[in-house]
This record gives sequence, C-alpha cells and structure tokens, in this order.
Amino acid sequence: MKRSTEVLVIGGGVTGCGVLFDLAQRGFKCLLLERGGLSSGTSGRFHGLLHSGGRYAVKDSEAARECIVENRILRQIMPHCIEDTGGLFVHTPWDPPDHADLFYKACQAADIPVEELSVSEALRREPLLNPAIDRVFAVPDGSVETWEACQTLIESAAEYGAETIVYHEVIDLITDQGKVTGAVARNVITGEELTIACDMVINAAGAWGGRIAGLANCEVTVYAGKGTMIAMNYRITNTVINRCGPAGDGDILVPVGSVAVIGTTSMRVADPDNYPIEDWEVKKMIDEGERMIPTFRKFRPLRAWAGVRPLYQDTKAGADLRKVTRKYALLDHLIRDGVDGMVTITGGKWTTYRMMAEHTVDLVCHKLGTNRPCQTATTVLKNQRGESKYYSVGQRLKKLETGEWPGQLICECEIVTRPQIEERLAHHERAIINDLRRDLRVGMGPCQGGFCTYRVAGILHEHKQLSPYDTNKALVDFLQARWKGMVTVSWGHNLRQMQLDEGIYLGILGLDKLPTELSGADTGRIGEVETEGFFEIGVEPSMVQPK
Ligand SMILES: Cc1cc2nc3c(=O)[nH]c(=O)nc-3n(C[C@H](O)[C@H](O)[C@H](O)COP(=O)(O)OP(=O)(O)OC[C@H]3O[C@@H](n4cnc5c(N)ncnc54)[C@H](O)[C@@H]3O)c2cc1C
Repeated sequence: MKRSTEVLVIGGGVTGCGVLFDLAQRGFKCLLLERGGLSSGTSGRFHGLLHSGGRYAVKDSEAARECIVENRILRQIMPHCIEDTGGLFVHTPWDPPDHADLFYKACQAADIPVEELSVSEALRREPLLNPAIDRVFAVPDGSVETWEACQTLIESAAEYGAETIVYHEVIDLITDQGKVTGAVARNVITGEELTIACDMVINAAGAWGGRIAGLANCEVTVYAGKGTMIAMNYRITNTVINRCGPAGDGDILVPVGSVAVIGTTSMRVADPDNYPIEDWEVKKMIDEGERMIPTFRKFRPLRAWAGVRPLYQDTKAGADLRKVTRKYALLDHLIRDGVDGMVTITGGKWTTYRMMAEHTVDLVCHKLGTNRPCQTATTVLKNQRGESKYYSVGQRLKKLETGEWPGQLICECEIVTRPQIEERLAHHERAIINDLRRDLRVGMGPCQGGFCTYRVAGILHEHKQLSPYDTNKALVDFLQARWKGMVTVSWGHNLRQMQLDEGIYLGILGLDKLPTELSGADTGRIGEVETEGFFEIGVEPSMVQPK
C-alpha cells in the first residue's frame, strides 16, 4: 500500500504525539507511525511524575527551570490528565546533612515554589511518612495519566486532519539524492507493508531513535538507560514523596491512580527491547521505600517493570547514567550528517514533551521555509472522553453504585464496566487487551487480570467476531504480560494471588490445553497459541522474601 503526507512522525510516545499535535495545529498535513500501541514505549512505562523541577534543582538548574515552566503550562492545557498531588521532599537520616539547605536555595533560584513544612505538618498530611525525617519541603509535583494524555494529543491532532497508524513498524527510510523522502513500515500483525512518501521525517522514536537514524545512514548515539519500578497494591500516600538528597535508586514514590509506584534504578542496557529486571533492583526498591515509609514492606508489590530512558550522547558515556544529560537533543541531519529531510528529537522528560515538540516543529518550519507560530502553550486540550479525574477507585465506585456507570462490572479491582469496554473497542481496529488496559486500567489492580481477563476476552470475541484462535491468543498474550511483571515480586500475598490465577486459568479453564492446530475452514488460518512457559514461576531462592 502507498500513502503520502507532508510530515511523517515516527514514534507514538508522548514526544511523537506532542509533535503530531503541534504540526497539525500549525497546518501541516501529518501522519504518525507507531510500531506498538500508543505510548507502549517509555511513555507508558515511566514513573508518572509531573516534575516540579525539584528533582534537578541542585544539580541541573536549567533542567529544573524547564520542568517548572512546563509543569505550569501542562496544568493549564491538560488538567484532565494531571492529578495535583503536590510533592514533598523529605530529608531522612540517610541523606547528607547539608542537602536540605542546598535544595531549598536551589529551588528558589530555579523559580520553583518551595515551602518548608514542620515535620508534624508533613505527618498530618501523610501519616505513613517516616517520623525520623527532620526537614520537609513542599513543591508542586503532580501525577500524570500518560495514556490519557497521548490519546488526547492524537485525537486533538485528528481534529486538524492528522492521522495516527499504530502497530506499524518503520523498517526502512527511503532516500533520494541525500534526502529522506519517505518510509516503509510493516504491519506487525499482518506483515503487510505500507510505503509513505513525505517531505520531512521526524524521528521521535525515543530510545530507538538511533536505530531509525541509522536507516538513513546517520549515526546517532542514544543509550538505553533502564529504570525499574514497582507498583504497590495501595495508594500509600496521596502526595509524591521524594528523598531530599542526591538522586539515587528508589527515592521517589508516586501515587498513580489506585496504586503507588516506587522507582527507579538507572542502568545502561544494550538492547531497549530486551533487558531483565534484576533481583537486587526489586530488593533495593523495597529497602529504600522503607526509609521513606517505615511500614512499606507491609504493602504488597503487584508487579515490577522497567522503561528505558533515551539518553543522547555524542561522546562516550561514563558509567553513571544519571550524569548523562536528561535534557533533550534536537538534531538537524542536514547540518549534522549531510542528510536532508529528517530531524531527530530524543531525550528529555515526559514533563518537557510540549517544549520539545515546539522546538522540533519550529525547526521543521524553518527547514520548509514557512513561519507558523506555535500555539500549544495556550491551547487547552479538549477532554475528549468527558470523564474527569477517573484515577480514584473511590470515585469510580461511587459512579457505579449511583448507577451513573450502568452495566456489568468486568474488572472489580479498577472498576471497569462492560459498556466502557465496548465503547473503547469501537476505537481499536485490533483485538488487543493491552489497548483496553491502557485506556481503562483494566487488569491493572491487585489480581493483575486474574478475574477479569477471561471476561474481557469474551467481550472481545463477541464484538470483534474473532475466531476462537484469535480470542485465545488475545487472552494468553495479555496474561503472559501480566504474569511477567508479577514473577519478579512473587512472594507472600502476591504469590498466593499468582497461585489462584494459575488455578483459574490452568486448573479450571485449561488454558494450556488450547487447540494447537485449528482447522483452516474455521479460522482461515492454521496456528498455535503459544502457551509454552505460561505460568511458570522462575523464582530465584534469593527472591523469596521472609514476609
Ligand atoms: C524508568 C523511567 C522513569 C521515568 N520517570 C519519569 C517521570 O516520572 N517524569 C518524567 O517527566 N519523565 C520520566 N521519565 C522520562 C520519560 O518517560 C521519557 O523521557 C519519555 O517518556 C520519552 O518519550 P518519547 O516519546 O520520546 O519516547 P517513547 O515513549 O519511548 O516513544 C518512542 C516510541 O517509538 C516507537 N518506535 C520505536 N521504533 C519504532 C519503529 N521502528 N517504528 C515505529 N515506531 C517505533 C516505540 O514503540 C515508542 O512507543 C522516565 C523514564 C524512565 C525510563
């Protein structure tokens, strides 16, 4: 198949979605290609913190300023994607004694509103905090709903005529006399190829940006900096809690929806698609969590996962990736590599995506010889779904109990109903339960899909008129992914939950006995649902925690 557009954006993370909206609003005909679901890369696997800049104030005042400026803007333009949790920087006995004063002064210098609280006031706000903290500072951190934000951006872009094509991986760039003139993408489900001709390519592929640039023979070094996080089964605090010390592992706890996420580590990995979560990382997160919240171990870790930071560097990186710039890189490949028609935007933070998009589209305007001012800092994005603040389970439960949300309850942990699933299915061409998870949080609660996945698969089967093979595949794919995240935290109550899930899916439903070969007449295809290794717990003895 062949298509054409003016500007092609590669990568459907927050950067690509932000770029697409900015381009569309400035009147460019544009199209975005994403190899997975929307924000299935780092933007869907991050910590969820809307930075106030406090995290960077002492070490990197420029990054801190960028964060607070964008923090203020994002609160204005996408309030439905941000929870105003506020943030506390807590100085514990393990943090350097002089850091609290340094932090306070650095925040003031970077124009970050900072207020010192008494310890008793902090404990009144967050009773589970460690009473051994001696100084506490309040800053305007927040918690962001990334899937809602990315969806909002592409839907807003679509109102200006932009198009987004997911599950299409760019496999080649077309060049003509030193200029990139298009891309070839492969549908990752059907294998079909799509060729798109364009005037300009924007490479917004995050940690994969180096690979994309390489398709046009441009050498771009983007290290993949892995960071592991753990979602705890409870919203332990309602405020973002940061350690008031030099950045380290496991020093931030973010309330995200119904859970609290502790993170992160920082390690360079060779392949952004393939990296393990190490035992020590899990242990470190739990140990550090306990320093901020002494009862941390009493909560249940639901799953551990990791994302990869796109860390751009032109020269060799040192061993500690926190010292590699977290600022972004915007590369004009004509100036840098003599290749016209392509720019790369990589690095940065979720919090600064809008500013990165603005600078990228300014460069595109310059290269295409047109002057179209950016309006994204003042355009309030429409809350397309009309739902407000759906992150609290209590608020969702109220809607269910008052009948505002009618219909069958499908996911009890996250309060997701059948009509909601049916409504979202209409927006997805493909039958992928992960898409519904990103839309509705289905399967993200304490049972990790144990009780709801087979129900969702049933709805999928009915609505998408799937073959039994495809329904089973959707079911197994989703459960495998949930299981993968649980295995690394399989002890105590979580292990019991896993055994229950195993009993449901293998004992009662016989998932491992799914047909291995399907008749062509029934499905139009011969296939095998991959269940090998399904529900295997590869737990190292060192991982089994005493409680
Ligand atoms: C552990 C961790 C925690 C973080 N926490 C925070 C935080 O709390 N707050 C904050 O502000 N920032 C945070 N960040 C940084 C932030 O998450 C990233 O900077 C941001 O999400 C990057 O967005 P992106 O769109 O550039 O990249 P991505 O979200 O990775 O998007 C790139 C996309 O390109 C797609 N892609 C790759 N190759 C191809 C191809 N060949 N064809 C088509 N598509 C392709 C990928 O599938 C991916 O979806 C964190 C990062 C990490 C790793």
